[in-house]
Amino acid sequence: MKIFKFGGTSLGSAERIRQVAEIVSNIEGDRLVVLSAMSGTTNTLVKIGNELRGNRANSAETLIGELEGTYRAVIEDLYANSEIKVTVNEIISEIFGYIRGFLINSFHIFAERNLLAQGELISSAIFYYYLLEKGVEADLISALEFMRIDKNGEPDEFYIKEKLEMLLKTPNKKCLTVTQGFICKNAYGEIDNLKRGGSDYTATLIGAALKAEEVQIWTDIDGFHNNDPRVVENTKPISTMSFDVAAELSYFGAKILHPSSVLPAKKNNIPVRLKNTMEPTAKGTLIILEDRIFGIQAVAAKSNITAIKIKSDRMLMAYGFLRHVFEIFERFKTSIDMITTSEVAVSVTIDDDTYLGDITDELRQYGNVEVEHEQTIICIAGNYTDDSSGIAAEVLHAMKEIPIRMISYGGSFHNISVLINTNHKTAALKALSTMLFVSGAQDAE
Ligand code: ASP
Ligand code: MG
Repeated sequence: MKIFKFGGTSLGSAERIRQVAEIVSNIEGDRLVVLSAMSGTTNTLVKIGNELRGNRANSAETLIGELEGTYRAVIEDLYANSEIKVTVNEIISEIFGYIRGFLINSFHIFAERNLLAQGELISSAIFYYYLLEKGVEADLISALEFMRIDKNGEPDEFYIKEKLEMLLKTPNKKCLTVTQGFICKNAYGEIDNLKRGGSDYTATLIGAALKAEEVQIWTDIDGFHNNDPRVVENTKPISTMSFDVAAELSYFGAKILHPSSVLPAKKNNIPVRLKNTMEPTAKGTLIILEDRIFGIQAVAAKSNITAIKIKSDRMLMAYGFLRHVFEIFERFKTSIDMITTSEVAVSVTIDDDTYLGDITDELRQYGNVEVEHEQTIICIAGNYTDDSSGIAAEVLHAMKEIPIRMISYGGSFHNISVLINTNHKTAALKALSTMLFVSGAQDAE
C-alpha cells in the first residue's frame, strides 16, 4: 500500500485535478489518496467563521456565495458527463445549504469545526466523481469514520488502525481509495481537525496504521530545499534526508511538511517522499530513518518569535530556579523553542504568545523580565557529530554582519539555532546561502 497526499494547490483548479487523477491512476498497486481542501478554501472558511462569530452575517453570506461560485466554475470546467455534473452540483448545493444554515443558527466552537471540515469533504467528492467519470475504479471513504483524536488532541492510533483496516477489508474493495486529510472526530464524537496544515499528518498516520510501503506528499515544490525559496534565489532540492533533519526543518519554518507528520513515519520507519505536482518527474526529497550525509544540509527560518529574558541574582549558584521558570510555561501550555543561560539570566523563546502577559506576570517573582517581539529563529539543520569541527564556526562566520540575540548548539546532532531580529532575516538567509551552499563549502545533495 502506498499513500499519496495532495495539497490544496495541487487541487487548485480543474486542470490541476485532472493532473492529480492522472498521477494516481497511472500507478499500480494498492493506493490510498489523502486530499486537502482546494487552495484558499480553508482560509475562506476560517474568515466565514470569524464573520459569523462577530455577527456579521452579510459579510459571511458574501464570502459563502463567492466560495460556492468558485466550486460551480470548477465543476463546469472539470466534468464532461452531464449526469455526473448534476450529481456533483447537488452535493455542492447540499454542503452550501448546510454552511448557510450557520447564518441563522448560533455559531459556536462545534459549528466552527464542522464548517472547517467542509473544504476536504468537497474536494474529495469532486475528485472521486472525476475518477468515476474517467472510468478509474475507486472508493471514497470518510476520514470521519476512522480518524480520531483522544481527549488530549493526540491521534488515537489503535482506533485509527482498527477502523481503517476494517473499512479497507470490505468486499469488492477497489485498489484505489480516496479520503480526506485534516478532518477527524474527537474523543466526544464531534467533528474536529488535526490543526491547520494537518493533511500531511493524516497521510503519515494512515501510513503508520497500514504499515505502508511509502507515503508521498505532493505539493507545488520539488522537495525540501536547502534554503527558503521565498527569500533566497537558486535554492536546491535535497534528494535524501533523515526524519530527524526533516523534523527540525519543518518545525523551524520550512512550510512543505507539517511538523507533526514526521513522528508517525519515523516511529514506523515508513519512507516519506516529497513530490511536485507541477513537475511529477522531478526527484523530490526522500525522507528516511538514516542518511549517511554529514554536515550542513539546509536552512529554514521561523518568524513571529518572542524572546523572554529572566534575570535574577538569585540564580547565581542556585538550583531549582530553572524548574520554577519552566513550570510557569507548562502551566500556560506554552512550549519553549530555544533556551540559553548564563549564570544570572536565562533567555527563552516562544512562538505562541497567547498567555504572554500571564507568563511574564508570574516570571517577575523570580527576577527582572524583558520581552522582545519580532524575532526570527534561523535553523541550520544537518547531521553533525561529536567531532564535527568547524560547523558552528562556519555558521557564525556566514552571519558575521548580523546581530545575534541567542545561539543554541548541541541540543541535538541535527540543528544549530540562531535567534535574530526579524529585520535581519532576509540578509541572514542570503548570507548563509552564499557561504554554506553557493561558495561550495557544502554540497546540498
Ligand atoms: N485544508 C487544511 C488547511 O488548509 C489542511 C491542509 O491543507 O493540510 O489547513
Ligand atoms: Mg500543507
